[in-house]
Formats: sequence, C-alpha cells, structure tokens
Amino acid sequence: MPRILDGVAIAAAIKQEVAEEVQALAARGIRPGLAVVLVGNVAASQIYVRDKAQACAELGIYSEVITPPESITTEQMLALLAGLNARDEIDGILVQLPLPAHVDAKTLLDAVSPAKDVDGFHPVNSGRLFAGRPSLAPCTPAGIIEILKRSQIPISGQHAVVVGRSDIVGKPAAMLLLHQNATVTICHSKTRDLGAMTRQADILVAAIGRPGFITPEMVKPGATIIDVGMNRITSRDEFERLFAGDARREATFARRGSTLVGDVHPKAFEISGAYTPVPGGVGKLTIAMLMSNTVRAAKMRRGL
Ligand code: NDP
Repeated sequence: MPRILDGVAIAAAIKQEVAEEVQALAARGIRPGLAVVLVGNVAASQIYVRDKAQACAELGIYSEVITPPESITTEQMLALLAGLNARDEIDGILVQLPLPAHVDAKTLLDAVSPAKDVDGFHPVNSGRLFAGRPSLAPCTPAGIIEILKRSQIPISGQHAVVVGRSDIVGKPAAMLLLHQNATVTICHSKTRDLGAMTRQADILVAAIGRPGFITPEMVKPGATIIDVGMNRITSRDEFERLFAGDARREATFARRGSTLVGDVHPKAFEISGAYTPVPGGVGKLTIAMLMSNTVRAAKMRRGL
C-alpha cells in the first residue's frame, strides 16, 4: 500500500513552528506583518486572500488586505507598492494573481522590494535561489521540499523528474531539489516521449495543470509522487475517466457538481510508494510556507 503524505498534518506542524517564532519575536517587540494586495473581484482570489489573512490571525502575524478597484492603473499600483515597501511594519508584500489584463504584472512584481517578496517571484530572489544563496523561495516549491524532508523521503542522489517549467512551480521546484542533491530532469510540453522520462523518476513532481495527466504506465513502481496540480473538473466524462467506482468522490461530485483533482491519475498513485493527495497534499503547504516566509523576511530585514 502506498503511503499518503499528509499535507494537512505537515502544514499544521509548520504553522505551529511559525507561531512559536512569532512569539519569540514578540518578546523582542517585533510583530511580522503581511500586506496582501487583491485587485478587483475574482471570487477564487478572494477566497485565497481570506485564507491567508486568517492564517496570519491564527499565528499572531499582523495582516492588511488592500483591495484596489479593477480599474487601477499600473502607475497607481506602483505608487501603492512603493508605499508598502517603505512601511516598517510591513515585512511581506503579496500581490494576488491573476491581475487584470490592463496592468503590467511583471513590472508590478519587479516593484516589490526583494526583501519583502514573500512569494519569492522577484528576479533577485529567483537569482539567489539559482545561486543557492539564502532567499525567499516560492511557497509551493518550498512546501514540496518540506513534505519530502518531514516524511523522511530521501532526496540526495535520487532522480527527481519535474513535469512543468513555470516560474512559479516547476523551475523553482527543480532548483530546490537540485540543492538537495537530487539528479533533476525538467520536462515540459515539448519533451519527447514524456513517459520514458517520468518512468525514471524516484521522485515525480507533476505541475502541469491537466487533470489526471500522469497515468500509471508513466510511473515507476514504488516512486514518490508529488502532485501539485489543482484542477476543478465539472464534466461527467472526465469524472468517469478518473474516479469511476470511487463512492466518496461520487458523493462530492453529486453534491457540488465538481471535484478537485491533481495532475496525476488516481490509478497511478496505487503503484507509487508514497504520494501527496489532492486535495490535502501540496496545496495545504502553500499558505504555511507563506507564513514561514513572512517571519523569515521580518528576521532577515532586521539582520536576525
Ligand atoms: P503553468 O500553466 O504555468 O505551467 C504548466 C507547465 O506544464 C508548463 O511548463 C507546460 O509546458 C507543462 N505542460 C503542459 N502541458 C504539458 C504536456 N502535455 N506535457 C508536458 N508538460 C506539459 O502552470 P503552473 O506551474 O502555474 O501550475 C501547474 C499546476 O499546479 C496547476 O494545476 C496549478 O493549479 C497548480 N498549482 C498549485 C499550487 C498549490 O498550491 N498546490 C500553486 C500553484 C499552482 P510548457 O512550458 O512547454 O508550456
């Protein structure tokens, strides 16, 4: 039976550690602070931002949610970010994505002070990550490493195959695995014979954005599978392809008309040695690592 890598429990342990660090900082008169900028009215973003603010409250981190209207211009956003960069009680700044099409997202992400870039998306932090220097690493990839380490899954010397090369997940995940001495292969949509690559993986990271894309024949028996994908499916055909015969999923699907699925087909998990479920896996780590990065930024900025 494969081992289920419980993202909920690991995230709770990390949050507990962060709460203790926050308390230790409080004793020195420091309260880490996070500012989240949420532009417009994207429903999913509103939920993510609410969850982030709630996590801050639970852990004793100060948080502020700034909600400019959809019509805000790039220039106005730049002024807003400059204000947050200058405020001493703000240690972390997060610009919730996606941004409206008329604002220049790259320019805005580059305008966040690298010292406050708790998402780890600024080129300075990407460069530091690349060079193996201490940095604020992107939250989801950092969460992947935490899951592996805290589950005592060896990384050093293992062949890690990362499917997906986005700046947010695939590339930084590959870099972090490399720094842990894995031998890393990065695959993407132009990779020839993807299955031949993924079958070599001791650790297979799927960050593709396609429901159930990794099928059993693409997995080496006993491999560890990290499923980063978060795809909401609503089609009955798709549901049948992935979850036929799964009574619990059937109940969710019947109730909500949708269900959340990763990039890995459930049947592929069955031949793995260990895997992160969706939901309840990598996704749970993302907010925990954001909290951890906020405290880290607070300490780094004060030279602690
Ligand atoms: P992107 O769309 O930015 O990147 C997807 C990557 O998958 C690309 O590099 C693309 O290749 C590759 N890809 C697409 N199709 C194929 C294919 N047929 N064969 C091989 N590779 C392919 O997505 P993200 O990295 O932002 O996100 C990936 C998934 O992770 C999504 O499901 C997203 O929802 C989820 N996610 C989950 C988070 C969490 O907290 N759990 C956080 C962030 C994302 P190419 O570069 O060639 O186009």
